[in-house]
Amino acid sequence: MKNARPNPPAIRGRNAEERLANVRENIARMCKPARREPEDVTLIAVSKTHGAEAIRPLLEAGQRDFGENRVAEAQDKWPGLREEFADVRLHLVGQLQSNKAEDAVALLDCIHSLDRPSLLKALAKAMDKADRRVPCFVQVNIGDEPQKGGCAISDTPALIAAAREADIPLAGLMCIPPAEIEAAPFFALLAKLAHDNGLAGLSMGMSGDYETAVQLGATHVRVGTALFGARGG
Ligand SMILES: *Cc1c(COP(=O)(O)O)cnc(C)c1O
Repeated sequence: MKNARPNPPAIRGRNAEERLANVRENIARMCKPARREPEDVTLIAVSKTHGAEAIRPLLEAGQRDFGENRVAEAQDKWPGLREEFADVRLHLVGQLQSNKAEDAVALLDCIHSLDRPSLLKALAKAMDKADRRVPCFVQVNIGDEPQKGGCAISDTPALIAAAREADIPLAGLMCIPPAEIEAAPFFALLAKLAHDNGLAGLSMGMSGDYETAVQLGATHVRVGTALFGARGG
């Protein structure tokens, strides 16, 4: 599918350090008119598909929050890097299979893809067993797209209630808006849903639209391409 986003991802900077500085500057610039503090926006460097040699320069530049979309890939890459950088925080930003819940709870510090009751049950069980509570974002299918993951908007309050009931710490709501149209209305809708449900965190915004997301209240932006360059190939 072609990417017809109004803002195709810009990759600015000759190396990881410059790209990181550029993204941080952009976040700070968008915070100002929104009367927000840059420290209130967590930049997650989405390192999926990239190896340790691409990740290490960002770690050396001070980046500590990283995102992966597959548990198995995170298990391959991160235990080694964590021996050197013990204070890394790992975020799962991709879909999670219920049978991977135990592995996810053992390795990750935050899960952005809680999207259905069956996964909620598996996560609650895994957290009880490991005696470790991992904060979760409820992922909302904000554009009501049949092919996309995420809880339907109408089912979201019930899933939030069930998570609270199961003692799963809720970090907030997460979304991936439809690819072909302006993201801002979807970010605003997610912010309203979070507010109406008493949740403060908003995981929204990727390389092409994180600046818009920050203006609209994102507390966590998930940026891959603008930090690492293009994936794949
Ligand atoms: C890959 C991915 C990102 C990062 O995307 P970029 O466009 O490369 O910044 C963010 N969120 C999720 C859920 C992803 O899968």
